[in-house]
Amino acid sequence: MQAQRFQDSDDVSASGYTPTRMQEARPSVKKLEGLSGWGRYPTADTAGIRPEKARDLAPVEGRCLARGLGRAYGDAALLSMGTMLLTERLNRFLDFDDQTGVLRAEAGTSLKDILDAMVPQGWFVPVTPGTKHCTLGGCIASDVHGKNHHRDGTFSAHVPRFSMVLADGTIVQASPIENPELFWATCGGMGLTGVVTEAELKLVPVETAYMKVWHVRSQNLDKTVALLTDPGYDAQYTVAWIDCLAGGSRLGRGIFMAGEHAKKSELSLRILNPLNPPAKGTKPFPVDLPGWALNPMSIKSFNWLYNWIQGSRKEFICSYDQFFYPLDGIHDWNRMYGKRGFLQYQFVLPMRTAFQGTKEILERLSKNRKASFLAVLKRFGPQGQGMLSFPMEGLTLALDIPFTEDLLPFLDGLDDIVMRHGGRIYLAKDARMKPEAFRAGYPRIDEFCDIRKRYDPEGKFDSNLASRLGLCR
Ligand SMILES: Cc1cc2nc3c(=O)[nH]c(=O)nc-3n(C[C@H](O)[C@H](O)[C@H](O)COP(=O)(O)OP(=O)(O)OC[C@H]3O[C@@H](n4cnc5c(N)ncnc54)[C@H](O)[C@@H]3O)c2cc1C
Repeated sequence: MQAQRFQDSDDVSASGYTPTRMQEARPSVKKLEGLSGWGRYPTADTAGIRPEKARDLAPVEGRCLARGLGRAYGDAALLSMGTMLLTERLNRFLDFDDQTGVLRAEAGTSLKDILDAMVPQGWFVPVTPGTKHCTLGGCIASDVHGKNHHRDGTFSAHVPRFSMVLADGTIVQASPIENPELFWATCGGMGLTGVVTEAELKLVPVETAYMKVWHVRSQNLDKTVALLTDPGYDAQYTVAWIDCLAGGSRLGRGIFMAGEHAKKSELSLRILNPLNPPAKGTKPFPVDLPGWALNPMSIKSFNWLYNWIQGSRKEFICSYDQFFYPLDGIHDWNRMYGKRGFLQYQFVLPMRTAFQGTKEILERLSKNRKASFLAVLKRFGPQGQGMLSFPMEGLTLALDIPFTEDLLPFLDGLDDIVMRHGGRIYLAKDARMKPEAFRAGYPRIDEFCDIRKRYDPEGKFDSNLASRLGLCR
């Protein structure tokens, strides 16, 4: 094995299955007031420790929960009356095998850390969400998906193994072969089975840091869905932006966007260093906008402009940052929604009901003038093995909606449509779903709870999301 060794991960062994007891270590506990997920709703007053070493992740007295970079939108990474185990300083690279592309790193390592170090060497992450500011541990716990789900599955499909600390302080290894039940309960298990301390990720080779992209305008939902499902338009990465304020004959109009990693031969000769695009700085979002700033009128104007600009771009080359992470270019862009924040609502419907269900939801949004800047429709491929993993074969729609008093009952109404059509709502984005909708969407919940009970009989690992949904209660 051609391995590059980066740094010792303390006493967290990654080879062999030898349960080890974590050393007692207690970094100081700090108060965390008004902590929230990325949507800024809800908030929680809690406490946390921010260990420098993986060995200090030993579960503390009382209940606890791991937190990465807090990019889950709702309350998945919040625990009131407990201790947050903040992992962001556990970001060391441990090994890289340039024959297999397998990188081993601590669980607080972010996708940004990985891309910054590995793209110049010709390697890319196999699956990425729409932000690179998320950790390996967070991506495993949410079993995140990307624009290539229909081809490459979820994040966990590319994780050969990880190590984790259990409720009794022992460290175990888990993989699809070693402790497979624990592995599949943890992938998508939202931190409720233990703390991932380090993980392996199989990177994919790329020739350049650029993407070859093409956009196609679509006039309505029929056309948008046809583009997403037609093999003639298929690419490694596909997604469609939807103008969710358009109604009538233009309901579901949008822009289909497809991309592939660009080959060297596809780049202009002016690009001298194909694996190192010039670094672009990020700009901060300077203030919390007032609640009224985002309203159907301002969003309608944005949608018109976005449709016009993006729809006019037919085929082009851009950096991977522009393709995968346009929002990361603006620091703290969630401040755009003001102090009350916003809710992200993402559901998936199985293929047989996907068109009808999505149409009903878009009609409801358009009729009620519930506007979303970011309405993204995507086709998912087959379901993976994570017991609480979100994706199933079908269509998924993600919406960001500014928080208003009437939003919660409105979304309950959308849940009814999702349940009626046999779908589910994404836990990493959720802040308000009711237990009935959760149970209807996640049929493997009892299997998950049996395994969790085996590894954590007292329910030490807990979250506000789990309490709200009555998960394993
Ligand atoms: C702009 C934006 C775009 C996004 N796009 C997508 C997308 O396209 N696809 C998608 O799937 N998701 C997407 N997300 C959601 C995001 O990828 C996930 O919520 C991811 O889990 C965030 O990682 P994190 O490190 O910030 O985790 P956190 O938000 O801190 O935590 C998320 C969950 O992981 C658990 N967790 C964190 N670290 C560990 C650990 N070491 N061990 C065990 N459990 C742990 C937490 O307890 C919590 O339940 C997006 C989020 C944003 C803000």
